Amino acid sequence: MADCIFCKIIRGELPCSKVYEDDKVVAFLDIHPVRDGHTLVVPKIHCDNLLDCDPEVLANMIRATQKVARAVVSATGASGFNLGVNSGRAAGQVIFHLHLHIIPRMEGDGLRLWPSREYGSGEMQTLAERIKQRLRSR
Ligand code: 5GP
Ligand code: ZN
Repeated sequence: MADCIFCKIIRGELPCSKVYEDDKVVAFLDIHPVRDGHTLVVPKIHCDNLLDCDPEVLANMIRATQKVARAVVSATGASGFNLGVNSGRAAGQVIFHLHLHIIPRMEGDGLRLWPSREYGSGEMQTLAERIKQRLRSR
């Protein structure tokens, strides 16, 4: 992908603070971190998002993520981390080359990622049925 920023980083045409590389995956620091040590895990093969890539790509990413997240947590003195993926513009995806965000977390750091709400009566069961129906028809 000629114009993809992450493909350019992977090809070495743009700089990055790389922390990990194997033959399938690279990981580098996010240039605008949510927290210090915020790291992106990126497959070397270009896919736009999580739904259009081969599951093997995801397996390689998650294997690398386990190693990298351990090191990020240890190096930043964090006591946990969030693993995130923005899939689609509506979900906040800006770079359309699949990547996972590792965001180090401290106890009481005040970052609130997932504001929640209550389902109305019966809504949860109805939605679960609709999702299961889609899964059965695949
Ligand atoms: P998205 O919203 O697509 O999941 O996140 C893209 C992330 O890539 C953002 O957090 C953004 O700060 C980061 N990013 C965008 N351009 C660059 C870049 O050129 N270098 C690095 N290291 N990170 C980038
Ligand atoms: Zn790309």
